[in-house]
Amino acid sequence: VGALRAEEAGAGRAVIGEARRAAVVAVGDELIRGERADSNSGEIAAALADLGIEVERVLVLGDDAALLERAFVELCGAYRIVVATGGLGPTLDDVTRDAAAAAARVKLVRSPEVLEELSALWRRRGREMPRSNARQAEFPEGAQVMANRCGTAPGFRVWIEGGMLAALPGPPREMRDMLARELVPYLRATCGVSGALATRRFFLLGLSESEFADRAGAWMERAANPLMGVTAHHGVLHVTLRARAESEPGANALVDARAGEFRARFRHEVFSEDEPRPHFAVGRALIERGIGLALAESCTGGLLAARLTEVPGISAVLREAWVTYSNEAKTRSLGVSRELIERHGAVSREVAEAMASGAARAAGARLAVSITGIAGPEGGTPEKPVGTVWIALAFDGRVDAREHRLAPLSRDAVRAQAVHAALDRIRRAVLAARGAD
Ligand code: ATP
Repeated sequence: VGALRAEEAGAGRAVIGEARRAAVVAVGDELIRGERADSNSGEIAAALADLGIEVERVLVLGDDAALLERAFVELCGAYRIVVATGGLGPTLDDVTRDAAAAAARVKLVRSPEVLEELSALWRRRGREMPRSNARQAEFPEGAQVMANRCGTAPGFRVWIEGGMLAALPGPPREMRDMLARELVPYLRATCGVSGALATRRFFLLGLSESEFADRAGAWMERAANPLMGVTAHHGVLHVTLRARAESEPGANALVDARAGEFRARFRHEVFSEDEPRPHFAVGRALIERGIGLALAESCTGGLLAARLTEVPGISAVLREAWVTYSNEAKTRSLGVSRELIERHGAVSREVAEAMASGAARAAGARLAVSITGIAGPEGGTPEKPVGTVWIALAFDGRVDAREHRLAPLSRDAVRAQAVHAALDRIRRAVLAARGAD
């Protein structure tokens, strides 16, 4: 599989043409049984959206050849672009290629080149290729093979009922790689994009989805250009702006104008335009400014420390982290007085402040962060319901504690939101600070 050949692009253009809508079929018994969540479809839809192609329908189907064949025929007729993921494995229950051949009314044929590549792959692993793997060298007659750089099963594209079916593997890493290297370039080359599309992304902390919607106002209308999309996960918002125009410079100008207004309106909340993981953005900011950090966690049990230690180079600033779950540990490790805990409770402004100051002192760090809260499902009271979390920052000797009322969706959700809230507090403090440790 080399570069896109001119006649192939021509054929693609003739079939796909101006198609702007698509369907995705996620294949696998494990998906319909709920043993595994379908994450591939969302990623495929996002990649297609960047090309200006909207996924209108996602179908999750079991490993059933007859059912898949019917779906491929119907969807290819209706959408002209259909992307399947999964069912390309070597075993007999992997039936995507059989169903695709039946839907295209062609035979499965073995590709000698792919068979040789697969055998060579196994030889490099020092083993003989199991006979079953030869199935992975079979494709619907006339199909274009898409190389798999991360695994064994190649994908393919085949014409069915005036549309194109692209079959990608199921393992997310393999799917992602083939999507980016093979399918997206193909679609870009063959879709008769009338006009151009430009995309900008923003990642925000410190706003709920509805607070964001209130402040974004008319920018979020369905007919707006650029069109704005937002998704929220445990307090982190991902915002996408997509502008359409006749030309690329036109689309860029449109999207950049809105991006500029967006940056101004959400200047306190945008933490990155390229890094969706807040702990990476915050960790890098700490490293850049050389601000030494200590952590004292209770209800998050070290989650914040675990996140920050994912960041390469964090050892330059992260001094020490405590998980002081019991009251006794808060007293022994951080010097929080027993009397203070008894008087105010472990989840309180006073204890959060004492934990942060104690951690800063014990670690000799310029900045210390404490988290103490009620993750649930038990332990809530009318005054301190589940989701009540106190987060304190001790920075250059000044302590600032704040109460966060997090959505008590589940124990995990409260803990994840608490980590993001703490990262947001650190981010804002670091932005406001100057100088080195
Ligand atoms: P192979 O059998 O060679 O691994 P395949 O193309 O047949 O590849 P599947 O057998 O369907 O793929 O799935 C392989 C792995 O990928 C499984 O762990 C499965 O749970 C996961 N997977 C498959 N489809 C999806 C999906 N839509 N979303 C997330 N994970 C998936």
